[in-house]
Amino acid sequence: MYDVEEIRAQFPILSREINGVPLVYLDNGASAQKPQVVIDAINRGYAQEYSNVHRGLHTLSTISTERYEGTRDVVRKFLNAASAEEIILNTGTTEGINMVAYGWAMPRMEPGDEIVLSIMEHHANIVPWHFLRERQGVVIKWVDVDANGDLDPQAVIDAIGPKTKLVAVTHMSNVLGTVVDVKAICDGARARGVPVLVDGSQAAVHMPVDVQAIGCDFYAITGHKLYGPSGAGAIYVRSERMAEMRPFMGGGDMIDRVTRDTVTYNEPPMRFEAGTPSIVSTIGMGVALDWMMGVGMDDIAAHERHLRNRAIERFKGLNWLNVQGNSAGKGAIFSLTIEGGAHAHDISTVLDKKGIAVRAGTHCAMPLMDHLGVGATCRASFGLYNTEAEVDRLVDALELCHELFG
Ligand code: PLP
Repeated sequence: MYDVEEIRAQFPILSREINGVPLVYLDNGASAQKPQVVIDAINRGYAQEYSNVHRGLHTLSTISTERYEGTRDVVRKFLNAASAEEIILNTGTTEGINMVAYGWAMPRMEPGDEIVLSIMEHHANIVPWHFLRERQGVVIKWVDVDANGDLDPQAVIDAIGPKTKLVAVTHMSNVLGTVVDVKAICDGARARGVPVLVDGSQAAVHMPVDVQAIGCDFYAITGHKLYGPSGAGAIYVRSERMAEMRPFMGGGDMIDRVTRDTVTYNEPPMRFEAGTPSIVSTIGMGVALDWMMGVGMDDIAAHERHLRNRAIERFKGLNWLNVQGNSAGKGAIFSLTIEGGAHAHDISTVLDKKGIAVRAGTHCAMPLMDHLGVGATCRASFGLYNTEAEVDRLVDALELCHELFG
């Protein structure tokens, strides 16, 4: 039985007040809060167990290394990868996608080769491909979402042509909450011999992920949205792709031997982890993922579905509120505008006065905002600790915004 109050009690920040009222944290899409177990792990990591990893033979280095490497296996389990050797630990999704762009795509793409993207990608899954466009003449092919903000997997598959070298899509939109049928896309792309990168930054927080069932080649996640620390993340790379990938960054730890004239590299995945990593953050991410699995990914998904339904039900009574791309099957992420032209920044300022944290702006997804024809929205993104009462507080505060600006 999912006990949201018991879960909330594990997040110290949720008991604080903002502007004299209890905090309602609805900015989980940007970054999630941390449970006490993660805070304790970070504290212990620095206070009692800190040392560099992979390098020393002393006790502290052994402990740090074991905990750090332990995270690799937790990520494997979290994503159901076949082997921990398919998991590269890094600083987050942005690094993961850049690594694929530089290490895998760049060496194998020629002018005129194509990458297929959906229009609702986060800039982290757009700008690295623009680098390839600028530097190597790679062509980006865009697939639009429909009026409901849904992405037809067949449209993505149909965009694949003889020159397509990669499909890169999000598993869940950080703006609309749209869940993409990435398995269907992977099935279609594999039949055409084209690898698929999935940006799992948003989806992995809200639903169980199984990279083997999806059949993707790359799956990127980011620790700070997964109730873990910032500065830690991971990317699953299917072993065949890992073998094709060149190191992205050079430095310590990723080498086998260095001489004046030559260098040979460590085995994958270490080959892709140059320099001193985010040791304690990575350990904290492992604790966060373990904790989430303990809560139960199916139960988290069911709780958030319930919150989404409640929000949609309440929003129906507000005929001046626009919910961008609202259709069934989405996650509990809502991009909102108020008729009458109130700016998202003004709305979010009023919500803040009521203790409610949301994000206002274009959400690092400018091509999508252009496609939707909206300048900026207020995004309310729910997490595993949010409650029905918080949905109601959001609605009350939106009503106040309508009175003020509508
Ligand atoms: N992709 C999506 C869908 C996101 O929502 C985000 C973060 O907002 C990212 C990528 C980038 O993640 P990070 O900044 O942690 O690297």
